[in-house]
Amino acid sequence: MTREQLTGQIKARARALGFHGVGVTDARPLQEDEARYHRWLRQRWAADLRYMQTSAPVRAHPMRVWPEARTILVLAVNYYSGDFDPLPPGHGRIARYAWGRDYHDIIPPRLRQLVAEMERLLGHSVRARWFTDAGPLLERALARRAGLGRIGWNACLITETFGSWVFLSEILLDVELVPDQEETRTCLSVFACRRCCPTGAIASDGLVDARLCLSYHTIENRGVIPQPLRPQLGDWLFGCDICQAVCPHNARVPLTDWPEFHPEAGVGKTLALADVLAIASEEEFRARFRGTALRRAKRRGLLRNAAIVAANTGYDDVIPQLRCLAREDPDEIVRGHALWALHVLDPVRSRPLLERARRDPHPFVRQEAELALERESAGEATAAPADPRITRDAP
Ligand code: SF4
Repeated sequence: MTREQLTGQIKARARALGFHGVGVTDARPLQEDEARYHRWLRQRWAADLRYMQTSAPVRAHPMRVWPEARTILVLAVNYYSGDFDPLPPGHGRIARYAWGRDYHDIIPPRLRQLVAEMERLLGHSVRARWFTDAGPLLERALARRAGLGRIGWNACLITETFGSWVFLSEILLDVELVPDQEETRTCLSVFACRRCCPTGAIASDGLVDARLCLSYHTIENRGVIPQPLRPQLGDWLFGCDICQAVCPHNARVPLTDWPEFHPEAGVGKTLALADVLAIASEEEFRARFRGTALRRAKRRGLLRNAAIVAANTGYDDVIPQLRCLAREDPDEIVRGHALWALHVLDPVRSRPLLERARRDPHPFVRQEAELALERESAGEATAAPADPRITRDAP
């Protein structure tokens, strides 16, 4: 079998296994992308994503990740499963990628199957390494070089048919295949993502400042969400996909045929804030969100987000729950954000709790209480006005 025939057959098998896009590139370093990545790190726009720093020396160098790598198969799976319905009262929104089951669990078995199919095709064993999102590689840059799509201003990979609603995976192989033509086009550059990002996180050079990105804060940041950003969360309980939803490349994308990524298979499109705020322990949280992407936020992150969304949406039904959390929750991040939310929702009656929180054992909670009391004596509202763009230097 020629290399061209082998490449064609592997791609056909990948499509038969349900992958919507498959491209091939070699294992050369990604020099230009590496320069951009290092600029992003130098600007401190990776926030506290430490693994982005520690993996920096290898990210653009597939052969440093695995020296035997000769070819990289880049695979895309469409996860688009529709739009939001009108938000029920007292609910928070979940980014689309997390509606169904966790792709980290769902996709790797098919990658393993694809490698097994390659072995059958070749008649001998194949050495391979595969990753779904979690690998130390610049996967969107690899996908662009493998011809799968272009990179948008919001830094997402945009495919021709499925827009940016795709999960990417890579298989590093010690087999030589025929590389695809690199995608050199840019996105339509209408800047809808930049205009609509609620925090101004997308810079004019297409780099995204994670310190301002709601997706970063609601998922990866497990600590304090800076006060100026809290109102910008709006009703986003987990993630944010505004910059994808407004992208013209994402109009008219077909629904995914992977039932695992439909909302019925996982947590769904929204969650009731009262249910989230009632989760009493990490064990209960893990049991509730097993097999979904939401487990990444941990209990403290999701309850913190729910408190902020309740405040932003004026959902005062949860005031009794917030009072309990502000007074008694063992986690200071939950106590502090519950206190902030209470002060937004019920400034007068939250005063005794704020006074009490001045003696909280944790400095973060004491600081939240002091700031709220200071604002009150200055006659200012706790929540920021409706849509002030956060400046890049703010946090
Ligand atoms: S995910 Fe949300 S906050 Fe982050 S860049 Fe996109 S629109 Fe902005």
